[in-house]
Amino acid sequence: MSLTFEFQPNAAPLATGERDALLADPGFGRVFTDHMAVVRYTEGQGWHSARIQAREPIATDPASSVLHYAQEIFEGLKAYRQPDGGVALFRPDANARRLRQSAKRMAMPELPEEVFIDSVRALVRTDRDWVPSIPNGALYLRPFVFASEVFLGVKPSSEYIYAVIASAVGSYWKGGVKAISLWASQSYTRAAPGGTGAAKCGGNYAASLIALAEAGRQGCEQVVFLDAVERRWVEELGGMNIFFVFADGTLRTPPLGGTILAGITRDSLIRLARDQGLTVEEAPYGIDQWQEDAKSGRLVEAFACGTAAVVTPIGRVKGEGFDVTIGTGGTGQLTESLRRQLTDIQFGRAPDPHGWMMRV
Ligand code: PMP
Repeated sequence: MSLTFEFQPNAAPLATGERDALLADPGFGRVFTDHMAVVRYTEGQGWHSARIQAREPIATDPASSVLHYAQEIFEGLKAYRQPDGGVALFRPDANARRLRQSAKRMAMPELPEEVFIDSVRALVRTDRDWVPSIPNGALYLRPFVFASEVFLGVKPSSEYIYAVIASAVGSYWKGGVKAISLWASQSYTRAAPGGTGAAKCGGNYAASLIALAEAGRQGCEQVVFLDAVERRWVEELGGMNIFFVFADGTLRTPPLGGTILAGITRDSLIRLARDQGLTVEEAPYGIDQWQEDAKSGRLVEAFACGTAAVVTPIGRVKGEGFDVTIGTGGTGQLTESLRRQLTDIQFGRAPDPHGWMMRV
């Protein structure tokens, strides 16, 4: 199914000089483009009223069900400036599919994948001058769907708004890539079997914030969540998947069992590693084993990965009664090499053997 996006240009776009000043050092998630895509859903009518319009506040009734019961899902992907000046998206089809899966879990209507891709392409084409040209800069796209029915009864909403906004971004971490420290929380978990861990819904992130605050008090930058049943198996970070690299050259990442988000970066790195003949196991890894392996030297590197932070080395993990350094505590060789391989494809500096890039 496809929809035609009506174009209602922003009558007062930011002046070129002001825009270029913002693009020189955009930081992460604070600099927004002139336009947004909007599509509405009404029960009985389906998806309709698709348009590209000025980015502006969305009027929301105080009884909109999203404000009370949090029926909301989102995605995150990037558009990259290419060497010839063009712009390309990285695996937007995978984000379109994951948004449908999130919708299913949250009892929301599934946005057709074609409408997702068309909305993102139309927005990037409209705001292509907002795609940064600075090293590691990109246009971060944030598609989201929320329940807009005006009703206080607890039930799936009969109306939804799908929108895509775009943010010019530099590096996710202030000061560029450096090894991060993790706090392994025993007090809080992120997702339980049968819960919403594999869906990209806002509630998962709201629930993770208290653990992040705990990590901060422990002098750590991020949280690594353990499973909700045994509080033993490593799952993922609040917004990134995790990989381990062993001295024998093998890699391991926790399996997707319904409590972990199926990261597109995770999937891409598994493929890139296997392409070069490396063994990647999708297998459980215990926090006790992690400490032992870090101390014995069997574990040589660990890294976190996601669209926003790409590939970020993990230098240290701390928990109740332990604090261990991984490898040198800095950026491991394979971590650096995988980061380089992935970003070379994304920025068009290397061939794209899997057909991941889509020109806009
Ligand atoms: N886990 C969580 C909880 C996330 O929010 C993200 C970011 N979307 C990821 C993993 C990484 O996913 P991706 O590689 O698709 O960005």
